[in-house]
Amino acid sequence: MYHITYSLEEIKNVIQAEGNIPHFEYSVRTLAFDSRKLVDEKYALFFALSGRRNGDLYIKEAYQEGVRNFVVHKTYTGASEFPDANFLLVDDTLKALQDLVAKHRKNFSYPVIAITGSNGKTIVKEWLYQLLGHEKNIIRSPKSYNSQIGVPLSVWNMNEKNNMGIFEAGISRKGEMTALKNVIRPSIGVLTNIGEAHNEGFDYREDKIAEKLILFKGVDLFVYSPKYLEGYTGTIPGKKKFTWAFNQPANLNVIRQYDGYGDYTSLTAVFKGEEIECMLPFKDAASIENAVCCWALLLALKYDEDDVAEWIEELHAVRMRMELKTGINNCSIIDDSYSLDISSLAIALDFLNQQNQHPKRTLILSEIPEAGISPKILYKQIAELLESKSVDRLIGVGPEISSYAKLFSTEKTFFPDTATLISQIHTIPIADETILLKGARKFEFEQISKILTQKVHETVLEINLNALENNLNHYKAHLKPGVKLMAMVKAFSYGSGSFEIANVLQFNRVDYLAVAYADEGISLREAGVTLPIMVMNPDLLGFEMMIADKLEPEIYSLRVLNDFIEVLKKKNKNHYPIHIKLDTGMHRLGFSTEDIGPMLKIIAKNPSIVVKSAFSHFTSSEDPLSDDLTHEQINLFTSITNVMEKTLGYSIIKHIANTSAISRFPEAQFDMVRLGIGLYGIDGTYPAHKSPLETVARLKTCISQIRELKKGDTVGYNRRGVMTHNGRVATVKIGYADGYNRQLGNGTGKMLVNGFLVPTIGNICMDMCMLDITGIPAEEGDDVLVFDENHTVNDIADQLKTIPYEVLTSISQRVKRIYYYE
Ligand SMILES: *Cc1c(COP(=O)(O)O)cnc(C)c1O
Repeated sequence: MYHITYSLEEIKNVIQAEGNIPHFEYSVRTLAFDSRKLVDEKYALFFALSGRRNGDLYIKEAYQEGVRNFVVHKTYTGASEFPDANFLLVDDTLKALQDLVAKHRKNFSYPVIAITGSNGKTIVKEWLYQLLGHEKNIIRSPKSYNSQIGVPLSVWNMNEKNNMGIFEAGISRKGEMTALKNVIRPSIGVLTNIGEAHNEGFDYREDKIAEKLILFKGVDLFVYSPKYLEGYTGTIPGKKKFTWAFNQPANLNVIRQYDGYGDYTSLTAVFKGEEIECMLPFKDAASIENAVCCWALLLALKYDEDDVAEWIEELHAVRMRMELKTGINNCSIIDDSYSLDISSLAIALDFLNQQNQHPKRTLILSEIPEAGISPKILYKQIAELLESKSVDRLIGVGPEISSYAKLFSTEKTFFPDTATLISQIHTIPIADETILLKGARKFEFEQISKILTQKVHETVLEINLNALENNLNHYKAHLKPGVKLMAMVKAFSYGSGSFEIANVLQFNRVDYLAVAYADEGISLREAGVTLPIMVMNPDLLGFEMMIADKLEPEIYSLRVLNDFIEVLKKKNKNHYPIHIKLDTGMHRLGFSTEDIGPMLKIIAKNPSIVVKSAFSHFTSSEDPLSDDLTHEQINLFTSITNVMEKTLGYSIIKHIANTSAISRFPEAQFDMVRLGIGLYGIDGTYPAHKSPLETVARLKTCISQIRELKKGDTVGYNRRGVMTHNGRVATVKIGYADGYNRQLGNGTGKMLVNGFLVPTIGNICMDMCMLDITGIPAEEGDDVLVFDENHTVNDIADQLKTIPYEVLTSISQRVKRIYYYE
């Protein structure tokens, strides 16, 4: 990696660490905190950040990968296990990370812009990068790396080849901004906006503004809109200030907007007493505001007005998503359209590396324009990166990357441009592999994506993997120390996917997976999932296949127990793990109390099995009115499992808590919890629209046709929809065969069209249905949201008088799933 190196001694001084350094000769140029995402191990400094479970395990993993330098908490005692590694002991490892980067930051005296605000930080950062990139060689935060960890990792990338830095900072509670300010040390500040107070961990708007403004204390220039500081009584930072506003006195006051030029909005503003103009290639209010914020900064920096207007006209959309889609020839395609640079390539390669469903991993990569370092160093870095991320094949596009072909030790092919690659794509063998597409904008890789992915029938279920991870972490934070987590991925992970979800869960180190039927488990194994998997409804015919795939059965009766033992004996298996299901009140599957004795006798006699866990299921853990019953279940479960452990003479994993029980009944966490619907963003414990969980699934379709109808006209089969007014009806591409229940017809169901909630009209058909869109703006081809974070799965469940579980799991398999990270 190209980076200033620091000696261990220097680092020890900067972060004021204790501890012996047996190897002073090691030096550091790369920071790491996640043992799953290591690069440049030899020169890496690994921070064991507190608050992460199994921290010791991660140190061991990082060590095994070759890391030799660690910053750990003073209480760490494992150092003696690794005699050839350096351990720096500190009180607070996060603070040590920040202090080290703050020191690194001081090496550079070029301008650094810091951006904060409630929304728009990443867009404004990327747009400033596009605009100022005409004149500057800029280092910026990758994606939206704006947290207590993300900011130091971003600023660490500063080097003397750059002449400007742009970093975003985001906070979720009081006290965090000081640390970020010390790391970024901005000379220029940009405030995007201030949103509602309650959603960001602050009780009062004034508190929130004050905390955000800490970032800008002492800057030479501060750019903001007075609208967002209205009522704020503290001092406004900035030796110089530059304001922007819409029809309000400001240094840049936008007085007219006109959106009649196709995709463009023309903006007229008063600046230094004169009218100036620019054309913005966007029409939505948020983009207009973000662009004006950028416009203001460039004028404040005294760039020529005409140049600035020209650059603004060339702005392009910032696409943050990294999408995982099904491709041709049994491939998985990862489409990462975020602009190409080495740090975003590393992030995308981590996601590629996480995919186990195919034996091979291919990267299609364009050359990286304007990387700011010499191409030789750049492509050498990339070659190292590909090696450490186990890329099997590189398809390079562009003359420059082609000329460094010999640096790459993987299987490789090169093409001078995208058009040539496309014209010869039939000559490249592509099958059963995961392909990451990462191209700079001008290489237009979306054309390759179109060829490699299967045609989508335009109704898609979008699965937000960040949200899934955040929900998982939400529940992990509620677990007592040492409690394991089993993730329920039955029924295609509640409709959201199979190996795509399991891979994420495995990567995030859940302890167990559970599926309903053996074939679900078998397909996870075929996709390379190695976690232990429990099968809840094993059947006699599937036992042999289960054993072959190391799937662990739920045993719920004496009959199943005896059957399974028979098969194990035939296969000569010993100590095969099983999970005993106990009936404590659900009366579905499970041993009843009187069968426990005979069950234990059989188990004691049969070394072919070992009881891995014993578990039961709550009937109504979400319902406060049933709490007495839930407590009875907990008591019964406790006493049965006590007897079991005593009789068997070994300890077993005991588990009973599902999603709602995890936080409602912490005493019922026992040794493991089984997290189901909460993972997918739904938990009845939390009041609607106040949930700390994030929405994971979004079901999206689109309008095929719009027609004008008169009062009295009828719509659909059996003429059940009758227009009560003159108006417009849209036909959308989703029907009951997609899982949009037929009960949702005739106004019962609603969908979002361009932000407006509209009712269905007429009966739902098999493949489509009709919406009354009278009076709202909509065109053929527009997206329609069946459910999302605003109109939720819960809302649909209410419309249908059912539960969200049924709505989610009913979405049929023909609806394409797209998985993405933002
Ligand atoms: C589905 C299921 C769960 C998960 O329940 P949620 O309410 O979705 O968390 C837990 N245990 C068993 C036995 C299940 O079948």
